[in-house]
Amino acid sequence: MAQARRNLSKALASVDVVVEVLDARMPAASANPLFEELRKERQRPALKVLNKADLADQDVTQQWVDHYLDTSKFSSALPLVGKSKRDVRKVVQQCQKLAPHRVDAIKPLRLMVSGVPNVGKSTILNGLLGQAKAKAADEPAITKMISRYEVNDRLVIYDSPGVMWPKVDSIDTGLHLAINNAIGVNAYNIEDAAIFLIQKMLEQYPGALTDRYHIELDGMDSVAFIEKVGDKRGMRSRGGSVDFERAAQLVITDYRQGRYGRVSLQTIEDIV
Ligand code: GDP
Repeated sequence: MAQARRNLSKALASVDVVVEVLDARMPAASANPLFEELRKERQRPALKVLNKADLADQDVTQQWVDHYLDTSKFSSALPLVGKSKRDVRKVVQQCQKLAPHRVDAIKPLRLMVSGVPNVGKSTILNGLLGQAKAKAADEPAITKMISRYEVNDRLVIYDSPGVMWPKVDSIDTGLHLAINNAIGVNAYNIEDAAIFLIQKMLEQYPGALTDRYHIELDGMDSVAFIEKVGDKRGMRSRGGSVDFERAAQLVITDYRQGRYGRVSLQTIEDIV
């Protein structure tokens, strides 16, 4: 871990802008605090890509954009849909603004793309890279853990596959990441994650739940709601009681598939 951190820090010396792919529905929880720390140490600007913006609440996303647009913190944000080639092209344009001196073949713009699992990093990278193939980097630290792509003579992209995930710093962050399928299934309890998700939905988007499941909420708490979903869908254990785990899995899958419409599970109020 210490070695990986040193390598990453060294690699950042050859990078002009860090492209941090975040999930627009939970930008803070899907951020990698280590990257943020190292890029600040190296005084590198960041473009916070708010990916999956098609699944997030537009007003909340705008608040995050305003929050990240901070010249003192040296960052800006770009909501986008990773699957849209047109959107992905904006990434380079926006990064160029953060590093206006890197514009030609002598000084190509060098980006490093980071992101927690399932945030859509590969989708965005594919859009950015086109046909470019990985080349060995000159710097030993980079060759070890980072792939280098010369997209054209003015653009170099570094990818850090499997960059170490620092310890999840709070239960709240862990549950957000679990809901987003960003951590292994053995690292969390699906029932806890579902209860957390539904609690947030009941507070912020109760209408999306009634639309999806046609259940009257009537002051129900999240456990009772998940039970009801299981009951309605005929998810029963051998003894005839509701199979809570299956119902928990269902509500999480529905969220992951975007079946609740546009929902944002984190607002900037959650982090101040
Ligand atoms: P990675 O693990 O970060 O590399 O994530 P992937 O690029 O493999 O994407 C994870 C899932 O999210 C895939 O099913 C993608 O199709 C989906 N995805 C990526 N970007 C978007 C987006 O902007 N909107 C939506 N709705 N889905 C996306």
